[in-house]
Amino acid sequence: MAVAQQAHQTIVTLDLEGVLIPEIWIAVAETTGIPELRRTTRDEPDYDLLMRQRLAILDEHGLTMSAIEEVIATLRPLPGALDFLNALREISQVIILSDTFEQFGRPFMRQLGMPTLFCHRLIVENDRITDFELRQVDQKRHAVEAFKALNFRIIAAGDSYNDTAMLGAADAGFLFHAPDNVIKEFPQFRALNEFPQLLEAIQNNLGK
Ligand SMILES: [Mg+2]
Repeated sequence: MAVAQQAHQTIVTLDLEGVLIPEIWIAVAETTGIPELRRTTRDEPDYDLLMRQRLAILDEHGLTMSAIEEVIATLRPLPGALDFLNALREISQVIILSDTFEQFGRPFMRQLGMPTLFCHRLIVENDRITDFELRQVDQKRHAVEAFKALNFRIIAAGDSYNDTAMLGAADAGFLFHAPDNVIKEFPQFRALNEFPQLLEAIQNNLGK
């Protein structure tokens, strides 16, 4: 059958923070001078625990949603990220799978040409971040598995612990901008550091 010989249609799933944009919490830590906020999924693999700690720190310091929005408004995508994403979107469907929150992601999506973003949501009451709502636990892996069930081939890239299940579920997975400890722990994923390298690696995997 002709269909069987056709290359699969591909979706590229990308992590957001550390890949296309800076780590939002690190930027907030630097701007507010609260070093405890520097911990990320790179340091604490338990995301729920990490978020509870972050919300407690925000409360302790009286940091509101609008104060954090002011910090986020000063941030820009990583150099080369927009060109990379534009080039990638010309050759494949792209979906950003992130454990960030809608409120944090929105300013960046505007700067990145409004790509599709699947993420979580903060619960905000009177400008205080009271809680967070994970749309789905382990959503990156679930998304990849769901796309594969729709007969897409998945190429994934991410930088951190919370990406490794996504990379493992994908047909091809790359670490990008990953720290040494993650690269060491997950040698099965090729580690890349420059956007042109990642674009080339993805391109070479298209149509397989
Ligand atoms: Mg990341």
